[in-house]
Amino acid sequence: MKKIVIAATTCLLMASCGNNQTNAKPETMQSDDSLFDAFKQNFVEDLWKMYPSWAASQGYHKYDSVLVVPNDESSAKELAFCKETSSLLKALDIAKLSDKNKTDYYMIENQINSTEWSINTQKANEWNPSVFNICGEFAEMLNNNYDTLPVRLHNFYLKMKNIPAYYEAAKKQIKNPTVEHTQLAIDQNLGGLSVFETDLEDALKKDNPKKEIADAIRARAKEAVAAIKDYADFLKKLKNETPRSFRLGKELYAKKFEFDIQSGYTADEIYKKAIQHKAELHKQMFILADKLFAKYITEPEKLTVGKKGFTPKPKDSLALIKMVIDKISLKHVAADSFQIAIEHQIPLLVDFIKQKDLIYIDPSKPLVVRKEPAYMAGVAGASISAPGPYDKNGNTYYNVGSLSGWDKEKAESYLREYNHYILQILNIHEAIPGHYTQLVYANQSPSIIKSIFGNGAMIEGWAVYTERMMLENGYGNNEPEMWLMYYKWNLRTTCNTILDYGVHVNNLSKEDALNLLINEAFQQKAEAEGKWKRVSVTQVQLCSYFTGYTEIYDFREELKKKMGDKFNLKQFHEKFLSYGSAPVKYIKMLMLADLDKEKK
Ligand code: ZN
Ligand code: ZN
Repeated sequence: MKKIVIAATTCLLMASCGNNQTNAKPETMQSDDSLFDAFKQNFVEDLWKMYPSWAASQGYHKYDSVLVVPNDESSAKELAFCKETSSLLKALDIAKLSDKNKTDYYMIENQINSTEWSINTQKANEWNPSVFNICGEFAEMLNNNYDTLPVRLHNFYLKMKNIPAYYEAAKKQIKNPTVEHTQLAIDQNLGGLSVFETDLEDALKKDNPKKEIADAIRARAKEAVAAIKDYADFLKKLKNETPRSFRLGKELYAKKFEFDIQSGYTADEIYKKAIQHKAELHKQMFILADKLFAKYITEPEKLTVGKKGFTPKPKDSLALIKMVIDKISLKHVAADSFQIAIEHQIPLLVDFIKQKDLIYIDPSKPLVVRKEPAYMAGVAGASISAPGPYDKNGNTYYNVGSLSGWDKEKAESYLREYNHYILQILNIHEAIPGHYTQLVYANQSPSIIKSIFGNGAMIEGWAVYTERMMLENGYGNNEPEMWLMYYKWNLRTTCNTILDYGVHVNNLSKEDALNLLINEAFQQKAEAEGKWKRVSVTQVQLCSYFTGYTEIYDFREELKKKMGDKFNLKQFHEKFLSYGSAPVKYIKMLMLADLDKEKK
């Protein structure tokens, strides 16, 4: 079936090149953009056939009953798909496409190259056993109400058929796994067993199907449980005398960075920029903390040298900064008004943006603030939930966490982290003009490609960029406390990059990593330990925030220089966002090209 679709697309493309003279009647000639749109439609349909689980996660449920067995045959199919897509792309004249389609083109091309590289070179399936885990996607089928329960249960039943074959194939793929990913795979797979035990039983109770149906489902679930346990056992017993290091190494890291981040900078360049930026942040923070020291540390006690309780100014600048930050963090809302405080801030942010003319905020799409749904509880102070590309009527929500039920100590530590100042920066980042505003603009130029392959560095970079942009324009009245807290917040993003590159390329030890996070980025020990765990099982993703931010910021400064008096911040923001969630380097390229056109 897929072959036929591809063949049809090829015909279409050839017609556009004028090769097919008998069909090249003027009235049937299609523009390059409409050809490309047709190609995209086929491409996405083929993509979902190839990756049913990915499709389901995007809200496309046509292939819900299919579980692909990860073996050489499926890899070969993927590679063939990449090759076909690649040759179809090459047949298109990119120069003739609209800006929107140009960026879509580049993003598809990147996806294809990235997949080929993952299969042929990165080979995570050989060293990362946690890539094999079906629990999450099965859980989604039970928990997500996209269809009636009987339909979801039926697909659940059909999809379970391949679970034993899936894990048998997984065992064959693994060659020299890292210790860290092996443990992760054991924990996550065993942790997911409840899906086939308790979650499934709950669903069966709710649906109450005929006995023979329920029995058949239970029988397959039993096989699934056995297969998962067997996989965990296999990993536990695996003779792995020379395990591979979890550190990716310079070469693989550079490539993964290129594909995942799609930055105009290399990984090396970004790392150097992060190191420089950290030094700059420390310098600025010291100036502020030094000024604030008297207000927060010495003054309240009104004590003089020699008397009991006097706190001398630390000689070490980082210790001084930490001392002042700890004091300022004590200014925070009460646990029971956390949610209300966030809700109250949203209209203030909108007013500020209007007053300063920073970006147009569409009043017809107000942000829906809601209490964090139960299944997300305890994850974050606030987050944005956006509907997937196939969920046209879905709402976008600003989920705000509640601290009710938290023990006092935990709540206090959390409230200090999200203190009076950081809470405002969080709202800028997550909501306005950060993620939510970006999303509203992205939806104005809908692109299925950008919904699926949306560039994480651009999305996170924008949110991080707006934090600084708001403060630069006077948000928070230029209070030194606000700036100091902002710098601390920004330091986290910056050190994520230093940590990630340091660990995977420069062999940074755990001790040095914790020192970086605790003493240089002022993080709590628990937070730093968590970050170490994350960096030892992920690669590159931690760089997306700082890279995107740096690219957007640098680009803005470059444009300011280029345009002089003609530069307008509001226009810059609106134009930048009009391209949707595309990599910053392409947005930059297209915006600069437009500028050149205007000059001529
Ligand atoms: Zn307190
Ligand atoms: Zn974010």
